[in-house]
Amino acid sequence: MSNCPECDAQVSITADARVGEIVTCPDCQTELEILGLDPAELALAPEVDEDWGE
Ligand SMILES: [Zn+2]
Repeated sequence: MSNCPECDAQVSITADARVGEIVTCPDCQTELEILGLDPAELALAPEVDEDWGE
């Protein structure tokens, strides 16, 4: 369990999660990258290649 850096909601990290994996915050849907597991540490995932258009 860790906190979302965006909205501070509790984000559960599964036991088989690995560093570098992306999880989604259940509250704000932000994608979070797992930086560490012991202790759990989350950071905003880098923006994926989305085409935002003009
Ligand atoms: Zn969040």
